Amino acid sequence: MKNGIVFDIRRYAIHDGPGIRTTVFFKGCPLRCWWCHNPEGQNSEPELVYRKNRCTSCGECVRSCPREAITLGAQQVFLNRENCVPCSDCSLTCPSEALSIAGKRLNVKEIIEEIEKDRAFYDESGGGVTFSGGEPFLQPDFLNALLDECKERDIHATVDTCGFAQYEIIDRIRDKVDLFLYDIKTMDDRMHRKYTGASNKQILRNLKKLAENGSSIVISFPVIPGINDDDKNLARTAKFIGSLPNTRQVNLLPYHRAGIEKYKSLGKPYKLNKIRPPANQKIKSIKEKMEAHGIRVGIGGG
Ligand code: SF4
Ligand code: SF4
Repeated sequence: MKNGIVFDIRRYAIHDGPGIRTTVFFKGCPLRCWWCHNPEGQNSEPELVYRKNRCTSCGECVRSCPREAITLGAQQVFLNRENCVPCSDCSLTCPSEALSIAGKRLNVKEIIEEIEKDRAFYDESGGGVTFSGGEPFLQPDFLNALLDECKERDIHATVDTCGFAQYEIIDRIRDKVDLFLYDIKTMDDRMHRKYTGASNKQILRNLKKLAENGSSIVISFPVIPGINDDDKNLARTAKFIGSLPNTRQVNLLPYHRAGIEKYKSLGKPYKLNKIRPPANQKIKSIKEKMEAHGIRVGIGGG
């Protein structure tokens, strides 16, 4: 039985494709977008999460750790993450649920059982399952096996991808995918490298091939003020989308700051502290500017 690492399975999702869906979040991503609101999905391996606001400084975790990775402070604990395995002994001991492990190895059967729980909602709403992340294509065999199960059970399957993968991997699986949600962050390769850690060339090439091969695709465009919302980039993005066969829909995903606390709980720096979410008026104006190029533009996922 194939297995993989996921960090969440969310039921009743309404922004991850059509209808009511169950979203399975794969752990591991090849990009490091500065605005990522799921930083617990970036590393491929399970990692320790510490929520300082829940901690009562009881010291139980310090005593339970076999690796001496935790020390007690005045009103919190300090983690030496380099020493952490993570074994989860501390999270099982903590009486306040201040410690937990992001990421769990599950097999296909376990995930399909979760997905099947809401079949009635999928049938009624035209929904299904969305494989998201992180990046699903980083665990291609696991994704492939899950898609096979969905096909067999006639469950609509969406894959939410950043597109940064070898095309051969995408090509092997694409026929089993009913809908791709495909990110374009910026057409400017220099900016893309700076803010995601990788070039956009392979991502755009893959998108073009996927569209030419007839896959059903909706583009996701995160609107990050000062990074990708200038007129030049909006026009380039809209023209590129307009040039793709079978692909005319883009959804704008306005920048938000909901993930900031997660960075603290993972001991990671958040690099976009100075940026604020765009005003509704600004999003409306971006929508109109992109629509002027003949593409359909929505706001939010779904
Ligand atoms: S997960 Fe294990 S190794 Fe890591 S801090 Fe907790 S008890 Fe120690
Ligand atoms: S066991 Fe939990 S509440 Fe107690 S010190 Fe450790 S993290 Fe804090």
